[in-house]
Amino acid sequence: MFRAAVLRLTLWYLFLIMLLSICFSVALYRVSTRELSQNEDRLQGLLRSNVFMNDGGGFSVFHDARIAQLEDSREKITWSLIYFNLAVLLGGGAASFFLARRTLEPIEESLEQQQRFTADASHELRTPLTSIKSELEVALRDKKLTLAESKKVHKSTLEEVGRLETLANGLLRLAKQDSNGRVKHFEVITLETLVSDAVNQVAKAAEKKQISLVYKPTEGSVEGERWGLVELLSILLENAIKYSPKKSTVTIETKTRTTKTYLQVRDEGPGIAADDLPHIFNRFYRGDRSRTKNATHGYGLGLSIAQKIVHLHHGSIEAQSDKTGSRFTVVIPNRQPRNLLPS
Ligand code: ADP
Repeated sequence: MFRAAVLRLTLWYLFLIMLLSICFSVALYRVSTRELSQNEDRLQGLLRSNVFMNDGGGFSVFHDARIAQLEDSREKITWSLIYFNLAVLLGGGAASFFLARRTLEPIEESLEQQQRFTADASHELRTPLTSIKSELEVALRDKKLTLAESKKVHKSTLEEVGRLETLANGLLRLAKQDSNGRVKHFEVITLETLVSDAVNQVAKAAEKKQISLVYKPTEGSVEGERWGLVELLSILLENAIKYSPKKSTVTIETKTRTTKTYLQVRDEGPGIAADDLPHIFNRFYRGDRSRTKNATHGYGLGLSIAQKIVHLHHGSIEAQSDKTGSRFTVVIPNRQPRNLLPS
C-alpha cells in the first residue's frame, strides 16, 4: 500500500514538474523564434534598401542563405528544448520519488506504530479475558460448586477485571497523550504546585504502604502543559510506590538552573535489572521482576507515557538503578521554544 502511494505521489509530482517545464519551453520557443524572425525581417529590409545589394541575383542568394540559417537556428532551439525536457524528466523523476518518500515516511511510521500498538493492546487484553472466560466456564460446568468455591471464582474474576481496568486506564492515558501530541497549551507552573498536584494523586497509594513521600520545596517555575507534567510526575511516583517495600521513603527533588529544570524521583526499592534498564521506556515492556508471582499490577505503559510527555516538552528522561533503589531524572527546558507556543 505504501509503495503504491509513493508511486502515485511521484507521478503527481512529476506531472506538475513536466507541466511547468513544457509550458516554460513552449513559451521560450515562441519568444525566441519570434525574436529571430523579427531580427531577420529587419535585417533584410535594411539590406534590400542598400545600394550594394540592389542587384537582384546577389540579394536572392543572400536571402536564401539567411532563411536556411533561420531554419537551422529554429531546429537547434527545438532540440535544445527537447534535451532540456528529457533532463527535467529524468532529474524530476528522481527528485519526485525522493520527495514522495520523504512526504509519506512519517505517515508510514505512524501507521506502523498504530498497528504495533493495536496488536500489543489486543494481546494484553486477551490474557485476562481468556482467564476470566475459562474460570467462569469451569465454575458453570461444576454442578457441585459450593458457595465458598463460587466466592473464590468471583474473587479471582474480580482481580482479572481489576487488571482489565488498569489496562483500560493505561490505554486511555496513552490515547489522551497521543491526541495532546499536537495541541499544546503551555503555561508557567511553579515547581511546588507541580509536585503537590502529583503528590495528591498518589497520596492514597503511599498511605496504604506506609511510604513517606519526602519533598523539600524549591523556588522556581517551569513552562509546560500542566496536565502533562503532573501526569509525568505521578507516573514516576506511582512506580516508586508500587515497586518499593512497605515503610520506605520516596524522595522528590527539583532544581532550577539557568535554562533547565531538573525533576528527580528516588526510591528504596529493589532496583531495575541491568537487562531491563534499556527497555523500560518501551510500550508494554515489563521487567522480569514485575512479572513474577507476587508482582504488582501493570501493563508496561506508564514509562512510555512519561517519556512521551517529556519529549513533548523537548526534554529528556533517564533511569539509574542499583540494589539500593531506582532514580528517575527528568530534564526539561525552563521555557519552551517560542515558535511552538500557541499564539
Ligand atoms: P508497569 O509499571 O505497568 O510495569 P512501566 O512502564 O511504568 O510499567 O514500567 C516498566 C517497567 O520498569 C516495570 O515493569 C518495572 O520492571 C520497571 N520499573 C519502573 N519503575 C520502577 C521502579 N521505580 N523500581 C523498579 N522497577 C521499576
